Amino acid sequence: MKRILVTGGSGFLGSHLCQRLHAQGHYIICLDNNYTGSEKNITPLIGKKNFEFINHDVTQPIDVKCDEIYNLACPASPVHYQTKPIFTIETSYMGAKNMLDLAVKNKAKILQASTSEVYGDPEVHPQKESYWGHVNPIGPRACYDEGKRIAETLFVNYQKAYDLEIKIMRIFNTYGPNMHPQDGRVVSNFIVQALAGKNITIYGDGKQTRSFCYVDDNINGMIALMNSPKDITGPINIGNPHEFTMLELAEIVLKMTNSKSKIIFEALPVDDPMQRKPDISLAKTHLNWEPKIPLKDGLVKTTEYFKSIL
Ligand code: NAD
Ligand code: UDP
Repeated sequence: MKRILVTGGSGFLGSHLCQRLHAQGHYIICLDNNYTGSEKNITPLIGKKNFEFINHDVTQPIDVKCDEIYNLACPASPVHYQTKPIFTIETSYMGAKNMLDLAVKNKAKILQASTSEVYGDPEVHPQKESYWGHVNPIGPRACYDEGKRIAETLFVNYQKAYDLEIKIMRIFNTYGPNMHPQDGRVVSNFIVQALAGKNITIYGDGKQTRSFCYVDDNINGMIALMNSPKDITGPINIGNPHEFTMLELAEIVLKMTNSKSKIIFEALPVDDPMQRKPDISLAKTHLNWEPKIPLKDGLVKTTEYFKSIL
């Protein structure tokens, strides 16, 4: 049994990770300040043996005994990370630094939840890990993009300085149950709007693309990366390479929910990436990982979840 610290553990991905690792028989310390997460997501674990929740902000140091750290704490939806940009920068940088210091102290292995946003609005398609990206350092997304980029830099330098075992995972758009209904990201927005019979809000002309990964596939990839040999440090892309336009996504959601909602077009947010699709060759080779759940199947499960909570 390992003692595993999951920061951002009451959020969307963190709550799935805590449940999976707990079911594998580990002791789970779930740390979160509930900024975008909620203890409702970890209700099945509260009060269980080998599980504890710590309400803490990762921008502040903490001393916890652990063998592994999954550093997921950070608002991930553009709406939420842009509401408090300085908090997002501090969470990305100070959070990573505090968790790296803790990993050094405990000689723990540490995984960073990085993002496809490090590629910015990419000029290379699909995106390989070797691509350095195209990020506007002073735009509205920079608090998140640059925060995640400096966190990667911090990770590789801690590895060199302290011979720390690090893992950098570049996560592409992931969706599923436990997303907050007001999260603001596209999959939850479209499903919640379709179920309520409200207008489906497409930003821009809807021709921009994303590639959506179901949460169970993501968690498989995350745990496989953490358990990979020491020389596999990443960065490594984890995502589903099947690419869709936002118009296609809206049409799939409307058909699946049998909704009478109308599609409306709103302004495209500044610096919104026009295309995104992971090259997952490295994950296939090093982790023997690839996503298994097609978009339509994942959307059915996600819709069932939203029906159950709304
Ligand atoms: P989420 O917003 O649901 O979860 C983030 C969690 O971090 C929340 O529970 C929030 O309360 C917590 N948090 C934020 N700031 C904190 C702080 N200062 N101290 C303590 N806790 C804090 O988002 P998610 O989709 O579950 O994302 C989890 C991680 O994965 C994030 O680091 C995100 O950048 C990364 N990621 C996610 C996606 C995706 O598509 N879901 C894509 C790329 C990267
Ligand atoms: N988007 C949209 N309608 C919405 C929410 C988002 O058309 O209600 C678009 C957004 O402009 C972007 C894509 O969907 O082009 C994915 O947005 P999301 O916020 O989910 O994640 P991103 O990949 O941009 O971080």
